[in-house]
Amino acid sequence: MDYLEKWKFCLGFIKERIPEQAYQTWFDDAVMISSATEEEVTLQVPNQFHYEWLESKYRHLIDDAIKEYFNIPMVVNYSVVISNKSTEEIPKLKETEKTIPTGYHQPSQLNSRYIFDNFIEGKDNQFAKAAAHSVADTPGQTPFNPLLIYSNPGLGKTHLLQAIGNQVLQKKPNARVVYITSEKFMQEFISAIQKNRSTDFAQTYRNVDMLLLDDAQFFQNKEQTQEQFFHLFNDLYQRGKQIVLTTDRHPNELRGIKDRLVSRFQSGLIVDIQAPDLETRIAILSKQAEDDGLDIPHDVTEFIAFSVKHDVRRMKAVLIRLLALSSIKHIDITMEMAKQVLVDMLGKSAFNKISINHVVKYVGKAMKISERQLFGKGRKQNVALARQTAMFLARELTDLSLTNIGARFGGRDHSTVIHACKTIENKINSDATFAHTIENMKSEIS
Ligand code: ADP
Ligand code: MG
Repeated sequence: MDYLEKWKFCLGFIKERIPEQAYQTWFDDAVMISSATEEEVTLQVPNQFHYEWLESKYRHLIDDAIKEYFNIPMVVNYSVVISNKSTEEIPKLKETEKTIPTGYHQPSQLNSRYIFDNFIEGKDNQFAKAAAHSVADTPGQTPFNPLLIYSNPGLGKTHLLQAIGNQVLQKKPNARVVYITSEKFMQEFISAIQKNRSTDFAQTYRNVDMLLLDDAQFFQNKEQTQEQFFHLFNDLYQRGKQIVLTTDRHPNELRGIKDRLVSRFQSGLIVDIQAPDLETRIAILSKQAEDDGLDIPHDVTEFIAFSVKHDVRRMKAVLIRLLALSSIKHIDITMEMAKQVLVDMLGKSAFNKISINHVVKYVGKAMKISERQLFGKGRKQNVALARQTAMFLARELTDLSLTNIGARFGGRDHSTVIHACKTIENKINSDATFAHTIENMKSEIS
């Protein structure tokens, strides 16, 4: 019986001992990728949190299962690999790679979870997604070569980059698509030099059909690696091979990268991704919840979406944590839980405890509209503006969900609140005086 079969038995063992939902959440994605020695097995899991959770909650259970089926009397050492990271963290896998004689570089590091279908589109990432799509459809044949995507962390660069690779491979399974982080690229390059294999290294990369280089800002101040990449870039480019890069800022703002490389980065299309707006954030969370088969009240999704504004990764982490809590404690996800998780993860400052009454009173006074009018149905322009302002500030300053805010304003629904917030946001963007007034109101209310 090989280790994969044994692991199957372990999973059976575990499955019998924990609730179904917990099993699906924590073990469906835990893959045993090697069992190199008698004492050690390696599990691969999707992210850091997953790892921590297994380690803290299921370590004993996993130990027991492994003892049972691997017949090892002593304590089992297992290490956990976070997928979609450099293979440096997969020592056992590396060992086997090294024994494969042909080719320098082994598999492209694509994670099949990152596809276009589950990348939610909003006005802030639309252009980037469209460009990525077009490059995936006709690699090397659009003017978008290289395509460079930049953004702050957690906004979907890696997701899009991998989606391109996955789509290309779906259509052409034999295409040589390489996804690599620039950090890993450098590590490989250095190790190739040490082993006197830098020609092999260069050759391997020159043979690819598509190069997806993630986080190219890491090349900053790494002159030799830049040099190597510069030649690779030119070679691929001249032969019409598609190159896609990501960076954490506009290439003009990269320091410590040689001008000629920066100018290569800029020679195709540059697109950015901005933080998604509220509706997009809600859609991202809803999609994630749906994909995870997770039953989460709409209120809670909204609440998380408007509490975590600038980092989708973080926002998703809140959801994962909620899911974990609910499955471990066997309780449904509630607003209380969501608040607690947010405080745990982001600190108390994540949201403050301003009441909606306070906001409404203040806005009424400042804009000279009575509270009755604010809560009423009147559509006079100044009343409507004050009402929208109050809704906007309620969203910004209280921890109420959109649904709740709407309910407080004469039973309006959450889409009305979203509309109000958008109207105010637009006005803030187009009218500096108004923006100033709103800022003042905000700080006075708080
Ligand atoms: P970056 O590389 O920019 O730091 P990632 O691509 O790693 O960000 O994205 C962080 C997380 O947020 C990933 O889980 C990713 O799937 C998710 N994500 C970001 N943007 C979106 C989106 N528009 N739709 C769905 N998921 C998204
Ligand atoms: Mg990334």
